[in-house]
Amino acid sequence: MCSFIRFENLHELKRICHWGPIIALSVITICSSMAIIDSVLWYWPLDTPGGSINFILLINWTVLILYNYFNAMFVGPGYVPIGWKPDNPQDAVYLQDCRICQGYKAPRSHHCRKCNRCVMKMDHHCPWINNCCGNLNHGYFTSFLLLAPLGCIHASVILIMTMYTQLYNRISFGWSSVKIDMSLPRRDTQFVVPFGIYGFAASLFALGLAIGTTIAVGMLFFIQMKVILRNKTTIEVWIEEKAKDRIQYYQTGEEFIFPYDLGSKWKNFRQVFTWSGVPDTDGIFWPVREGSHQYSLTIEQLKQKADKRVRSVQYKVIEDYSGACCPISKGYKTFFCTPYTEEPRMQLKKGELILVTRGLPHWMYGNKNLKTKNAHVGQHERGWFPRRCVEKCLYDTATEKPTEEKKIL
Ligand SMILES: [Zn+2]
Ligand SMILES: [Zn+2]
Repeated sequence: MCSFIRFENLHELKRICHWGPIIALSVITICSSMAIIDSVLWYWPLDTPGGSINFILLINWTVLILYNYFNAMFVGPGYVPIGWKPDNPQDAVYLQDCRICQGYKAPRSHHCRKCNRCVMKMDHHCPWINNCCGNLNHGYFTSFLLLAPLGCIHASVILIMTMYTQLYNRISFGWSSVKIDMSLPRRDTQFVVPFGIYGFAASLFALGLAIGTTIAVGMLFFIQMKVILRNKTTIEVWIEEKAKDRIQYYQTGEEFIFPYDLGSKWKNFRQVFTWSGVPDTDGIFWPVREGSHQYSLTIEQLKQKADKRVRSVQYKVIEDYSGACCPISKGYKTFFCTPYTEEPRMQLKKGELILVTRGLPHWMYGNKNLKTKNAHVGQHERGWFPRRCVEKCLYDTATEKPTEEKKIL
């Protein structure tokens, strides 16, 4: 009972005052209240056993969805303490420091510009919860992503069945038209409140929201489950990609082994989902697989930081892109997995070269140096674009050659 929204974090209530939580909570409220109103008033009255069970189920979905949503928001990802240092001072050489948090970045943590803190096992900053998704709230966040579509599917069935049964006698089909007579209440009405045009409009609107949520949030659930089962965050996927690029470029012969994948999906799953809701780690010390150690990843990050070239990877544009937020012509995965950030999108023209600094499975973030296009010297255009519009430049064919750079090892 005491874990029902952790009260010590309620000073974070201000997080609700942002467009993300306002929209998310509005959608939850509209879908759940319309499903409850429709079933109680018009579809499945409470005086039948089925109606009561349906009602209890709908309430349950709402409570579970809000419980996980508020926990994801208020429990937060867990922040690395200000001024944090490793227990053994000699280990500091393996770690990056954070000027803003005046300490070292613990393994797997990253500084979030929105939260203005170093976040434990940072995955991404989610505008819908107006907080980061990280170590402590990963389970709550993913449970929310599962429960919201399930609740929405239930709500959709109720909304469709209500509209269908209520409109059945009122629809008349002509040669070229469909007529719905909303003015007359049903002759055999036994309902306290007749199903009128407002009930119909509100049900239809809620149905649209519920179906949209099911698809969009359902996709996010599968992305997060992949993160959990591989024990590799969205940021770490990109670090690994850069590691492979660095090793290939310098031909160092190293093999980069991602250290946190425990080798079994079940073990990775149990690290995030526990009965207590608190993950199985403290967010600082991480169990690693054989052959790796606590600092395998941070050492790789330091090597990448030292290697200016690899901070961005060069890509060539192979397909035009208009800069649209959810482009329809770039495949359904690109459409649905659009990055939920306030950062800009960048228009692309075939043949342009892009320096990519971050990547998601279907999107990438990078910049064009406008110097090459006789714009103001040093001016950059930056933003997100679909991954399928670009192709990695291979070094053996590229004009750039590793002349001044030294091997880092
Ligand atoms: Zn920081
Ligand atoms: Zn954040």
